[in-house]
Amino acid sequence: MMNIHSKSRLPISDWGLIIIFVMIYPLAVGVTLVYFFYSYNDRTIQLLFLNIIMLIFLAVFLYLYRSAFHRLDIYAKKVDFYHFTPSLADFFIHLIKQVYYVLFLGFLFNFIIEFLISDSNIDLTVYLGFSIGTSLILEGFFLVIRMRSKISLINTAQESVKDDIIKDINLNHPESEKISEYRFADIQVPSLFLSAGVTTFGINNYICLVSRYFNWKLNDKELIAVLLHEVGHVKNNHIRKSYMILGTEVILRSIRIFIVIIALLVFSQQHENFDIDLYSLLYLSLILSVFLTSAFLTFFLKYRFFLGEIWADEYSANKVGALELASILRKLPKLIPSPLAYDQSSFLGFRVNLLRNSVKDLQDVNNQKINQ
Ligand SMILES: [Zn+2]
Repeated sequence: MMNIHSKSRLPISDWGLIIIFVMIYPLAVGVTLVYFFYSYNDRTIQLLFLNIIMLIFLAVFLYLYRSAFHRLDIYAKKVDFYHFTPSLADFFIHLIKQVYYVLFLGFLFNFIIEFLISDSNIDLTVYLGFSIGTSLILEGFFLVIRMRSKISLINTAQESVKDDIIKDINLNHPESEKISEYRFADIQVPSLFLSAGVTTFGINNYICLVSRYFNWKLNDKELIAVLLHEVGHVKNNHIRKSYMILGTEVILRSIRIFIVIIALLVFSQQHENFDIDLYSLLYLSLILSVFLTSAFLTFFLKYRFFLGEIWADEYSANKVGALELASILRKLPKLIPSPLAYDQSSFLGFRVNLLRNSVKDLQDVNNQKINQ
């Protein structure tokens, strides 16, 4: 059976993940914060509490950033691919950009608040509530757009991958049991930035979509190698992990908006008699931890994406052979009509080199064994 006539649907677990991690989790943290601010009227205690929450996030993302940095660094040095070597300079440039971005947002929100509320001596709880509410509404709006594009992508996927290929994968690779469907779809590679023009949705029940072009341009063996790369993603839970991070981004965004509003509203009034007290120290430490955490998170996500692709390649290479997979990856930019951006094609080059290198490593080990 080649064609599926019924309209495809996004797996229900995908919706569940999004609601839990992107809506309920930040909402729960937000409500806890607002409740605490409401119960304690002392600004110093309020900021102390917010600082403690932020320091926990900071510790978690510093740890994640460091381990991802270290792992990617090892891979990049192995093949001498300078472009993908993680660097601290990039990190600080990003940090400075973030400060500018948030200052801009701060002025905007400050303008709105002053327009709406004439009494500027308002409780911090109101500002916090406003920040969390705004960023949740914004996130909800972006989510709807993102989900709509996902659904329309799934709707283009009416044609199933050949039964022989699916049977081969199910029979020889038991890790693929979570993927219930393999279909060809109109995937635009540069827009999705998904390595092989393949994407998976879901958590326990995945749908795997492959670019329609691969149906025409790859033979069965090559298509299996590409699909096994996706099985590698599923096996490593890459999709679930990326949703878990999204919620933390929403929380960080809320707190960023909040600290900028306070900076512009409260501090501008105290300008004449500004002195260093516990309150301003707590405020400064809050700024520092919020910006550092979001920079660590951004770079962790970036490195994590690269690592995810490398690990999925390793999975597929273990099954079909590293050199075979390398030659398919090398062909990909030519197979897809839209030109790949420099970053994307050089990332493919990086992966090709890594795969070839892994074969060389293996040969070296074998040669040593023979020599001994
Ligand atoms: Zn991938």
